[in-house]
Amino acid sequence: MIPVTTLAGKKVALFGLGGSGFATARALILGGADVTAWDDNPDSVTKAAAEGMHTADLRTIDWSVQSLFVLSPGVPLTHPKPHWTVDLARAAGVDIVGDVELFVRERRAHAPDCPFVAITGTNGKSTTTALIAHILKSSGRDTQLGGNIGTAVLTLEPPKAGRFYVVECSSYQIDLAPTLNPSAGILLNLTPDHLDRHGTMQHYADIKERLVAGSDVAVIGVDDSHCEVIADRVERAGGKVTRISRRHPLASGIYAEGTKLVEASGGAAQPIADLDGIQTLRGGHNAQNAAAAAAACLAVGVSIDEIRTGLASFPGLKHRMQPVGRRGNVVFVNDSKATNADAAAPALSSYERIYWIAGGLPKAGGISTLTPFFPRIAKAYLIGEAAAEFAATLGESVAYEISGTLERAVEHAAADADRDESGPSAVLLSPACASFDQYKNFEVRGDAFVSHVAALDGITMLIGSATGDK
Ligand code: ADP
Repeated sequence: MIPVTTLAGKKVALFGLGGSGFATARALILGGADVTAWDDNPDSVTKAAAEGMHTADLRTIDWSVQSLFVLSPGVPLTHPKPHWTVDLARAAGVDIVGDVELFVRERRAHAPDCPFVAITGTNGKSTTTALIAHILKSSGRDTQLGGNIGTAVLTLEPPKAGRFYVVECSSYQIDLAPTLNPSAGILLNLTPDHLDRHGTMQHYADIKERLVAGSDVAVIGVDDSHCEVIADRVERAGGKVTRISRRHPLASGIYAEGTKLVEASGGAAQPIADLDGIQTLRGGHNAQNAAAAAAACLAVGVSIDEIRTGLASFPGLKHRMQPVGRRGNVVFVNDSKATNADAAAPALSSYERIYWIAGGLPKAGGISTLTPFFPRIAKAYLIGEAAAEFAATLGESVAYEISGTLERAVEHAAADADRDESGPSAVLLSPACASFDQYKNFEVRGDAFVSHVAALDGITMLIGSATGDK
């Protein structure tokens, strides 16, 4: 836990007592702040009060004496409209921040030079965050991993010299961190997402830009037009920028050429790592993640050899194109996180011959955008409510069966893949659907896949119980 010492003795209002909000309240209290906490959910308030926290409806407090208002990133600051607490804080002229801002202030107060890598983007944030932390840890550095990836940042160990922080930041967290100043900040990519919470693409992009604009070194993926413009602007403003591309060579920066990562500077280019054979970093999207991770690691003093070693041993993240088992020529891959067609595309593009388990609760648009990958699919095994709709889309072009349940799908796909003599293949769970018709969430669905795979005869599991935990 990081005690928030910068607000010792000050009155602080806090709204949002979910996982990270609760942790933030505790960190503030531990540091000596006088916190008044509240939530729209009465159960959360009761739980906080039972822990001895001071709770009060924030409509009833004296805002004029509050030094700061701390808001959970899950609560609307701007769109679709500001939460009622935001209106109250603004009317009283009280600054509004989130937990990442409190962390940044603690770091500045106690260990301003401790390396801090912050990661954002529309896709690939968690993978890149986990990869950087893995490279740092495997090189023996004292590493703290947290933020949007699942561990509230204030529950980490306190900043001290020589300790490295790797923090995934959602746009909401950046929006609530006005003085965010990482040693290395990564903006991976920008595509329309969460616009319900950000209004326009421009507003969404502006928020993400703040993370790199405040960084000592800004690592920016320049394969989309929004990020390209941001890289130019940060550089013009005097910022140090490392550009990343998975699509084309760069005059300066790190780019992917097939599976090779190449570093270019001053007219010279040299390969720095090769992702060939690294199961957990397959596909062009992972080349982008790995290139960004390498750039950030270089920026905080990690050697190229240490980066290579870390890349090669990356265990991957659970439920994201995670190789979980192997039998002969067949690898079993858990991509349960792919809850729509767009998210399933990277996995389908990463394997040449696929026994594809898909279905669940269908999303609008179905799987018609995945047609270009159909030639790779040896057979599809359809489950859940989407089975009939997906079968209609696959039509004559792809062999399929309606398996119904995941268990039957795994059994049948494994048996068919076993008989396949045409070379290596993957039994891939990449459902392109939500899980709620059959499972509580995508994690439970992924775990069920893993246990069905583990039950197969002659399987070698590639994961231990703790491997790849997010
Ligand atoms: P996030 O944390 O941003 O949601 P994750 O690292 O959890 O991203 O990856 C989620 C899914 O997004 C992956 O399973 C993969 O399908 C896709 N993905 C990962 N990295 C990228 C990338 N750099 N560009 C596009 N899609 C990606």
